[in-house]
Amino acid sequence: MAIQAPEGTRDLLPDEALFWTRFKETAAEVFGRYGYVLVETPVIEQTELFVRGIGEATDVVSKEMFTALSGENLKRLLEGGTVKAKSRLSLRPEGTAGVVRAVVQHDLVPQGAAPAKLMYAGPMFRAERPQKGRQRQFNQVGVECLGAEAPSIDAEAIIMLMRFFEKVGIPRASMRLLVNSMGCETCRPAYRDLVRAYMDEHAGELCETCLTRAEVNPLRAFDCKNPGCAAVMEDAPKITDHLCDDCKAHYAEVLGLLEGAGVAYEEDPKLVRGLDYYTRTVFEVQVTDGLGSQNAIGGGGRYDKLAEEVGGRSTPGLGFALGYERCLMALEAAGMELPRAQRCDLFVACVDDTVRAQAFALVQECRDAGYRCEMDHQGRSLKSQFKLADKLGAARVAVLGPDEVAAGKVTVRDMGTHDEVLVSITDLVSELGSALL
Ligand code: AMP
Repeated sequence: MAIQAPEGTRDLLPDEALFWTRFKETAAEVFGRYGYVLVETPVIEQTELFVRGIGEATDVVSKEMFTALSGENLKRLLEGGTVKAKSRLSLRPEGTAGVVRAVVQHDLVPQGAAPAKLMYAGPMFRAERPQKGRQRQFNQVGVECLGAEAPSIDAEAIIMLMRFFEKVGIPRASMRLLVNSMGCETCRPAYRDLVRAYMDEHAGELCETCLTRAEVNPLRAFDCKNPGCAAVMEDAPKITDHLCDDCKAHYAEVLGLLEGAGVAYEEDPKLVRGLDYYTRTVFEVQVTDGLGSQNAIGGGGRYDKLAEEVGGRSTPGLGFALGYERCLMALEAAGMELPRAQRCDLFVACVDDTVRAQAFALVQECRDAGYRCEMDHQGRSLKSQFKLADKLGAARVAVLGPDEVAAGKVTVRDMGTHDEVLVSITDLVSELGSALL
């Protein structure tokens, strides 16, 4: 059997790849209005970055990372040797840790500086069990703002995310914006203990995984899909009833700014998100149609301790990431058709082989003038050249034969209206310009 793409990965064929390019351009345009600029970080980082940044006990780090080794180090390991910590690399499971590492490494937010507002787009890798909307390699667009603690940063990022989804065409009515505050190092430890105690009281009703979670990170039990656990966690203590005064005020201001901007949201005190680094504001956008259980198209939050975790000075931060493939599914569910990647302004058809050289030169001239121009390269009949032109979505077809070459003129057919005009070959490029305009 021919070799297939690895399980959980997907080829972006031309139409989807074109849409991915447009999607990134739209993100750069919308996020650019808010001051975000593009960065690119490596897809591999030291494993240690994710262990320290995201947290060893998270699913993403404990179970889902793809680890990469150079051939030499793999050989060393297989022979029972060891590999230096800095040679242990992992494919990035998310973008935040790498961007924060870059900010620290290049001191992009020197003390007292304006916040760094950065965006990225590219593939992420998680060794999850593939299912609809859940892949092992998927594309994300994300932003990170480092160096500002103000609730207005949280609110503007959430507003910007919703504006982006609306701009790419996801109907507002099909999206739910969920928000919560996860507290900070002052109030969360006591809250975590409360949840742990509550889970201990209900130990008999919880799954094995949640019993382990109760010890390591009880808040993760809020994400358990097991109906029994979900029912127990429904009545668990709510973080928003246990926030310290500073977190309470911060959260209230974020919500106030969203309301002021007319952005509808739902508070969800069970929204904890899967990564350890979140503090205070967290949010997630879910869609109601087309995605089944993997219905989160984007999400993020504040991570005021992450820069320190990866060895930098204390720098507050906030970011979000959205998944391209899930957005595409949501758009398709909303009835969107992908734009066609193949487009052709002019197809030059040859009546017979004697005019191929002239056709080749004409096609080249039109391309040099900036038009997408194509001809047949397989000796097709005139009829099948028209079929090909149609398939390529050609707006016009120029028919070139020995008579046309002798007369210095060519017939140009508009493929939409079927109107034909006779154009001087030397004027073709300028005629094409005015016709297309
Ligand atoms: P996360 O980093 O888990 O918050 O993910 C942010 C967004 O990336 C999600 O809302 C999804 O849209 C997308 N995403 C996360 N994991 C996957 C996956 N395994 N396959 C496809 N998209 C994903």
